[in-house]
Parts: sequence; C-alpha cells; structure tokens
Amino acid sequence: MGMQQQKLFVNGERLKETIEKFADYGRTENNGVTRLSLSKEDVLVRDFFCECCEELGMAVKVDDMGCIYATLEGVEDRPPIVLGSHMDTVKKGGRFDGILGVIAGLEVVRTLVDHGIKPRIPLTVMNFTNEEGARFEPSMMASGVLSGKFDKALMLKSKDQEGVTFGEALQASGYKGDMENRISEASAYLELHIEQGPILEKEGLSIGVVECVVGMVCYEIEISGESNHAGTTPMDMRKDALFTANDIIGELRNQLQAIGDSELVYTMGRMNVYPNIHTVIPNKAVFTVEARHKNEKIIHEVESIIKGLRKSQDGCEIKTTKLWGRDTVWFNPSICEGIENSAKSLNYSYKRMVSGAGHDAQFVASFLPSAMIFVPSVNGKSHCEEEFTSYEDCEKGVNVLLETVISLLK
Ligand SMILES: [Zn+2]
Repeated sequence: MGMQQQKLFVNGERLKETIEKFADYGRTENNGVTRLSLSKEDVLVRDFFCECCEELGMAVKVDDMGCIYATLEGVEDRPPIVLGSHMDTVKKGGRFDGILGVIAGLEVVRTLVDHGIKPRIPLTVMNFTNEEGARFEPSMMASGVLSGKFDKALMLKSKDQEGVTFGEALQASGYKGDMENRISEASAYLELHIEQGPILEKEGLSIGVVECVVGMVCYEIEISGESNHAGTTPMDMRKDALFTANDIIGELRNQLQAIGDSELVYTMGRMNVYPNIHTVIPNKAVFTVEARHKNEKIIHEVESIIKGLRKSQDGCEIKTTKLWGRDTVWFNPSICEGIENSAKSLNYSYKRMVSGAGHDAQFVASFLPSAMIFVPSVNGKSHCEEEFTSYEDCEKGVNVLLETVISLLK
C-alpha cells in the first residue's frame, strides 16, 4: 500500500517529570527514595500509579499478592503484552531501580493514547509486590509465588523487623486482591531496568539487550581448629582456624582466577570468626564463597575447585557445604532479537549482555515469554541515594521498549 512507517517516540520531558513525580513518594534528604514494600509510601505510590492508569482509560486489577495490573484494551481479545517491574525500594535506595520499568510501561501507553492508537492486542502495565525483600524476605517474593517457586502461605508469614507479617501488611494496605487476577497468560513480558553495574557506561553504550540472568552457586566453608591462650601457646603448637582460612581463601582466589574467564565473578562476602576475642586463638572460621556465570560448565569448574579443597590443613579440619544454587535463566530469544532490532532501528548504541543481579523477569520467564532491557547506571551505582541514569538514557530505553512493543503488535 506504500504507507510510510512513521516512527513513534515517547515524550522525554513527560518521562522525566514522571520519574521525579514518582520519586516524591518516599524521597530522602539526599534525593534518594525509601519506599519499602507495603509501607505508607508504597501504598501512596500505588494509589498514584492506579490514578495515572485510570486517566488513560486502563482497567486496574490487583491479585492476591498485591501485584497491580493496568490494562489498555486491544482490538483483539488476546493475551496481553505485559510491561512491568517493581515500585518498592531498599532503604535509602534510588529513583530508578524498579520504578523506571513501571513508568516506562505507563509512558508507552501514554504515547499510544497521544496518537489515538488502539493496540491490536491488550497492553498491561504491572507492578510486582516486594521485589527488593528489604522489608520482608525473600526478594522477588510476588513473582516467586506467581511462578510457583515460593510457597504463598510461607510468604504471608514473613515478618519485618517490627514483627508485622507480609500478610498483615498486605491486608492493611488495601491492595490484597484476587488470585484469579494473577497474570497467567501473556504474549510477552518486557522489563526495562537500570543495569546496576558499570558495563554500559564504561563502554559508552545506551542500551543493554539482556540475554539471561546468570546462574550462581553459594558454598559455606568451615575451618575448625582449637582455641587456646594467645600469649602462652607457641606458634608451632597451634591449630589456628583463621590463619588456615586465610590460606584457603588465597588458594581459592588463585584457582578461580586461573579459570581465566572475565565474565566469572566470585565473592567471599561473609566471614565469622570464633570466639572473636583478641586474646584467644580462633577455633573456628566460617566463610561463604559465591560465584556467578551464565555458562553451567564454568559453574561446575568452580564447584570442583571448592570440592577439591583439602579436608585438613595445619591441623585444622575443613568442611565445605553447598548452601544453594540457581541455574542461568535464558530470556526468550525472539523477543531479545526484537529488542536488538529496535535499538538498531533507532540508531542507539547497544550490546547483548547478561544480568548479574536477580529480577522479577527471571521468575516470570518460567511461565511467560520474557526479556529485559538495561539502561546505564552512572558509576554502576544502585541501591543507594546516588543511583542515577541520565534522563536521555531513560528516554532511549523507553523508546526501545515502545519500538519493541510496536514490533510485537504487528
Ligand atoms: Zn529492581
């Protein structure tokens, strides 16, 4: 028919205003945000989000975990394209983590409505409850329940520091809806999120096409020695658990480095020393080693290094226990391709990358075709008040989201 395809762009000025407006709910002194799940601030931001959606003629529903779904009707009654993320933050978090993905969905709908476009299939913008797990553990709680990974009854009992359960807070929030409203079918689930790492910024790129959330393993290593007086016990008569732990950490670090894979990350993030008194030789040191990589084979290599540690050294016993692990979650390849093509057609710089952090999308991917788009984090910072993504990059990310939605609507 020779019709020229006119590209649609989102309204960058409105997007910036909306990001700042949402940040007013829980804004901290240093321009961050504290909006713990189901707190007063979270309830108010939910109310505001629902108002914004209703103004656009969207129908708002809430499920039994408090997730909100706002749907713009489509020409055809088919499973919707879902755009979403979370609106809760950690204590003294930023203005972008999570909320950007929800606002992005809102801006996509606003843009369609601006242009009088009724999508071929419905478009749902959604908010997952308690992604951060900052008030109620674990993180990604609602998406975990929806995907059948977490037991709902157990989650309802999760307590905050004041002893309030998630179930009580949900009830009090007014956002306890019906189980039948849970998302079960969708044409696609798309989550725009800040990278929370330094890679895009370092490489001068605007868009990350996220291929997967990397798998990980976590081990606990316990070294047992013998306590004795720090002044009277000769050095050659000691079983010092901390000295042995120190040697083992060095050994592990060398061996993990020798795998020689730049995408492999590993952390020994927790260590407890007993009895932890300066006049007593430590009789026990317990530390964790966690490692993350997209490739299962590399994770197996890490595991065999850990399992290959000697059982004793310098008279101390060494015990290794696997605490937990998760497999890499791969996103839908054709949606990833759609995102890549959208970035290309908009002439934005981009790369395919992995997510080292967990997101709702990784659970959603188990029951809906899903993918994620990353935008750069200044200095790679997140979960802090300094968290920032330039408004220009936010706008580019939302344009890629819009373009991807349009390609899915064809
Ligand atoms: Zn997040």
